[in-house]
Amino acid sequence: MTDPLQTLIAGRWRDASGPEYSTHYPADGSAVARLNAATVSDVDEAVQAAEHARQQPAWAQLKRHERASILHRIASGIRERAEALAQLQRLDNGKPINETRALVASAAHTFQFFAAACETWEDTLTPARGDYLTMSVHEPLGVVGAITPWNSPIASEAQKLAPALAAGCAVVIKPAEITPRMAIELAKIAQQAGVPDGIISVLPGKGSVVGEALVKHPLIKRIAFTGGTSVGMGIARLAVDKLMPTSLELGGKSPTIVCADADLDHAVAGVLFGIFSSSGESCIAGSRAFVHVSVFDEFKRRVVAGAQALRVGDPASERTQMGPLVNMGHRATVERYVQLGLDEGARVLCGGQRPQGPMYDAGSYYLPTIVEGLPNSARMCQEEIFGPVLALLPWSDEADLIAQCNDNVYGLACGIWSRDYKAAWRLGQALQTGTVWINTYKQFSVSTPFGGVKFSGTGREKGRLGILEYTNQKSFYWGLNEQPLPWAD
Ligand code: NAD
Repeated sequence: MTDPLQTLIAGRWRDASGPEYSTHYPADGSAVARLNAATVSDVDEAVQAAEHARQQPAWAQLKRHERASILHRIASGIRERAEALAQLQRLDNGKPINETRALVASAAHTFQFFAAACETWEDTLTPARGDYLTMSVHEPLGVVGAITPWNSPIASEAQKLAPALAAGCAVVIKPAEITPRMAIELAKIAQQAGVPDGIISVLPGKGSVVGEALVKHPLIKRIAFTGGTSVGMGIARLAVDKLMPTSLELGGKSPTIVCADADLDHAVAGVLFGIFSSSGESCIAGSRAFVHVSVFDEFKRRVVAGAQALRVGDPASERTQMGPLVNMGHRATVERYVQLGLDEGARVLCGGQRPQGPMYDAGSYYLPTIVEGLPNSARMCQEEIFGPVLALLPWSDEADLIAQCNDNVYGLACGIWSRDYKAAWRLGQALQTGTVWINTYKQFSVSTPFGGVKFSGTGREKGRLGILEYTNQKSFYWGLNEQPLPWAD
């Protein structure tokens, strides 16, 4: 039974104008939703309507505390529908229900946080250096495009929509083709919360058609993008032609360091969670574990036992820790990487195959996989696999460890497991990365800015100042001279 889905374009719920397609439940391959892809002319209609709507008094003249009230109502709307949203998100990308519940809760927190930030954010009176009063104020950028991937749709979309609305912008969302439902649901909730028609549109469909048209549209003043590095780079190239700001949240190949003095119980649990939660389909997956030689064998024994004990299966079950991968095509990519690792000399310690049994046959499942025996230079240790594959690498010399961790094009996150806070601080400072987790991993707080360095991206999302990314800063000089301005001489 597939749900027919309409989408919100230019203030009207309707089918998009492009070809019909279906989305599928990764656990069994069944079709779960039918909808139409958007076209370039839908993009234009949505953007024009957004530009018109954002200039109307119903949006443009709202005071910040009034916009904040709308954001609070969106947060409440998400909470009221939390269970239904979590189930829909599970059907979209096959994540276990416990994870999708957490994502939905985080989306509500994001709106709540940016409501508070919106209501309390202050423009500034700057110190005057002459006979004038100087102010710096922030104005909404205009219409912004939000382009999101399939792995955590509701969280990615909330992280863009909430600060953009808080800033007074209008937003056209382009969700991943295969996971359009959360953006559509968010648009529904936002409309019910009082966001005027036209301020939000959702355009499902192919990135190369809809996404690219959005990036190129002259009225789009910013792109907030989360996705792969090569797509992000293409967007950056197009953005240069418009001198358009972008935030690019891209891929990763994050190292986790286990020091000789680490609490191994915590380190093992953290490394398992860091790579295998979300089936490794996470930009911040800790996919390279550098383990000190003195504890390598013990750590290996425990982490392999932990991976073998993970409950892989039905995403609808609260007991499940790892669901399927997003689709068969992506599983084939992960399998190719594991084969490549074998060709490069990897030894598979666990996994390296699909789980066996009738319940797995129709889904795109893959077992948690751990390999050793590869140098950091191997492709398997250098490229983002975006799946449940962990490489173990021994280390003994700190300078060499830092060089290996940094010897990668990505710089998104890292983990450090050590009881020595000075060593953790030293390592954390030396690693080229956007986030450092010390004795923890994959924890997220909306109040803490997130983003990458190197090929993991530019710009930051979250944090109180995240709103400012969606504004133009404008300076005012108010003359206080009693006499006409003299010529400088
Ligand atoms: P993707 O780059 O293929 O797609 C992301 C979005 O971009 C989708 O909506 C897609 O349709 C769109 N898109 C594709 N081509 C486009 C084009 N030419 N112009 C404009 N838009 C286009 O990524 P994916 O496969 O959906 O997601 C996985 C990737 O996302 C991984 O690399 C992962 O690391 C990254 N990711 C990063 C973060 C982060 O915060 N850094 C978070 C989640 C995922």
